[in-house]
Amino acid sequence: MFKVIEECLKMALTRDLEKPTIGVYYPSLLPSRLLRQYRIYREGIAVSLEKSGVFKIGELLHDFLSGALKSDGTLTCEFEKPIVLAVKHGESWIRISGRVDAVLSVNGENVVLEVKSISKLPGKSLEHHVMQIQPYLLALNNQRGLIVYLEKHRLSWRIFEVPFDGKLMDSILKRAKTLHESLTSKNPPKPERSWECKYCEFGSKCEESKLGPSSPPPSSKVLLKK
Ligand code: SF4
Repeated sequence: MFKVIEECLKMALTRDLEKPTIGVYYPSLLPSRLLRQYRIYREGIAVSLEKSGVFKIGELLHDFLSGALKSDGTLTCEFEKPIVLAVKHGESWIRISGRVDAVLSVNGENVVLEVKSISKLPGKSLEHHVMQIQPYLLALNNQRGLIVYLEKHRLSWRIFEVPFDGKLMDSILKRAKTLHESLTSKNPPKPERSWECKYCEFGSKCEESKLGPSSPPPSSKVLLKK
């Protein structure tokens, strides 16, 4: 019986190899180091059972928040709303594609809501999450969004307002274009040492991962969410 239960749990957590399509870039991944993204597109990532478990906890917390929001009669909520932005780059088009966790309608105003499960609540919204939300705000013509952090261990939360920032939007588009050029020319970007190296799936291929973080890690990891 033990074995059957263990097999069921493993099956529930096993994920297919994730290999995104070149030309389509994801707001959740674009703030990540360019070499890591390059390798994800070229080689794919086989998500370990341990990491898959972390994803699953995140999904359960998302469901918890969705249920809580649905129970309020004054809010209109749309969950997992897809967005696509198309941008001309040279002779080709690239797309920024993602899913907004929720769009809330309050007193006639739409607000983008992004939910993050995290091990320790931050004192301010984290840079890569602020960057991630910009394409959602642009695509849905919203001037502000909210990031809700849910702490995994205690189910406590903290909410931050994030305005649309044109400069950040420019920088995320620039990253998408640079990545696209690297991928289409098969010319990998240079390694960049950062806190991400510690969590990177490709650490064994990079000397940078052995040098230690160049900046302190925020208390959440950059995950691929389409
Ligand atoms: S180990 Fe660091 S430098 Fe190497 S791909 Fe990963 S994030 Fe980039």
